Amino acid sequence: MPGEQHQPKSRGGTAMSQLSDGFGRSFPYMRLSLTEACNFRCSYCLPDGYHADGRPQFLGVAEIERLVRAFAALGMHKIRLTGGEPSLRKDLEQIIATVARVPGIRKVAITTNGCRLPRLLPLWQRAGLTALNVSMDSLRRERFHAITGHDRLPEILEGIELAQQLGLSSVKLNAVLLRERNDDELPQWMEFLRERPVSVRFIELMRTGDNAEFFQRYHLDAEGVINQLTAAGWQQRPRAADAGPAREFNHPDYCGTVGIIAPYSRDFCKDCNRLRVTARGDLRLCLFGDFGIALRPLLQSDQDREALIARISGQLGLKAAGHGLHQGNTGITPHLASIGG
Ligand code: SAM
Ligand code: SF4
Repeated sequence: MPGEQHQPKSRGGTAMSQLSDGFGRSFPYMRLSLTEACNFRCSYCLPDGYHADGRPQFLGVAEIERLVRAFAALGMHKIRLTGGEPSLRKDLEQIIATVARVPGIRKVAITTNGCRLPRLLPLWQRAGLTALNVSMDSLRRERFHAITGHDRLPEILEGIELAQQLGLSSVKLNAVLLRERNDDELPQWMEFLRERPVSVRFIELMRTGDNAEFFQRYHLDAEGVINQLTAAGWQQRPRAADAGPAREFNHPDYCGTVGIIAPYSRDFCKDCNRLRVTARGDLRLCLFGDFGIALRPLLQSDQDREALIARISGQLGLKAAGHGLHQGNTGITPHLASIGG
């Protein structure tokens, strides 16, 4: 394959990442947004639903393939498909199969609101999906309805059971912590995790350009959950060298595990291991960065491969040490549906 010289090999023969920055961080993990559209109305993300803006379409399969090949040549080996809601893409199965075939890609994950799991998960798995994250902010049906605008918890739970039956190697559930809306459910989550080998990730609500008021009212520090976990005998696992920013907890009496994602905690950005590409092909160095780097013009032809690789690796020096959330700087991100979370 042309450009294979970009694939550096470690002694063990696996690709090493050339995607690294001046702060000692490397980025083997890419989050690719497939669409900004979503059918849910999560109150912290798209409370009024998605409204198309008439701008150009989202990346097509051929553009995605060129993009992923270039990142993989630089050592990226894990890709997460996200959105908006990625399962709204009619060509999702084809996209999964395409990225799973790219040499060097070892893990193909998706983050979804789960609305299409019962029908489509077997097809995605057959196409090469290896890991699943489902957003589920509450285990109580009426609360789930109130938070997401959709009364669909039963089918989402059905999808999670199916994922386990199908033997997906990683099943994680994302729950955004919201003061007084879902912050009393830890005992129910514990019961949920007792027999199920899944991981629930409690995510601190992040302030974005559009949700300042909501954030003010509902943000909850994850420290309270950590205290409850440790009081109940859960222990923080030692961090793997290549782990991302989540802190992982386990307990001998439970099959499942808990992850805490606390973007306002000290040193959160120190372990950043990911880069993001928007549905329109902009490289974003940070979830809350002030700029995007247009890659789409270089995704139109295989002949631009070298220039694409040079643009990606040449921009990493601009990645800041950390986000500016503590100063209320949310960058150019109006909501996480615009970049994929
Ligand atoms: N629609 C898919 C879903 O909800 O799983 C994928 C995109 S969504 C933007 C990705 C993740 O970001 C979800 O788990 C969602 O709960 C989370 N998220 C969205 N807005 C957030 C915010 N302001 N703070 C923290 N997490 C947020
Ligand atoms: Fe849609 Fe996901 Fe945002 Fe909810 S969090 S509105 S499901 S993009």
